[in-house]
Amino acid sequence: MALEVLNDIQKRILKNKINKGFNTTDLNKEFCLLYGEVAEAYDAWRKEKPDFGEELADIAIYLLGIAEIAKVDLGTEIVRKLDIIEHREYTVLKNGSQVKVEADDENVSRDAEEPTYSTAAVRDYFIDGPK
Ligand SMILES: [Mg+2]
Repeated sequence: MALEVLNDIQKRILKNKINKGFNTTDLNKEFCLLYGEVAEAYDAWRKEKPDFGEELADIAIYLLGIAEIAKVDLGTEIVRKLDIIEHREYTVLKNGSQVKVEADDENVSRDAEEPTYSTAAVRDYFIDGPK
């Protein structure tokens, strides 16, 4: 249910970009704009501005837009990654840093749905640009 909502939001974001004539092909640009939104949210939080929540929403909107452009079902990927993180073990180093114990990712079941995108296609996209 919640995953479907997230997927619907992804599609709504891309549809709005198309309707407004915004960029829908250059992921480099979208990542730059996402960074800009992260900076805006940090500034809003740091200065205790009332639009902090709206700036967080901007981050989510750019992130979900990137996911839709790259044909990544972000909700599924988030759940899959949470499964990994929740099973991950950490250790505390002498300097106080908490670091993950290596090679734990292989112990987590990935029997859920396969990714909805080809990692090779995404890699090619970043190397060669949109076709
Ligand atoms: Mg903003």
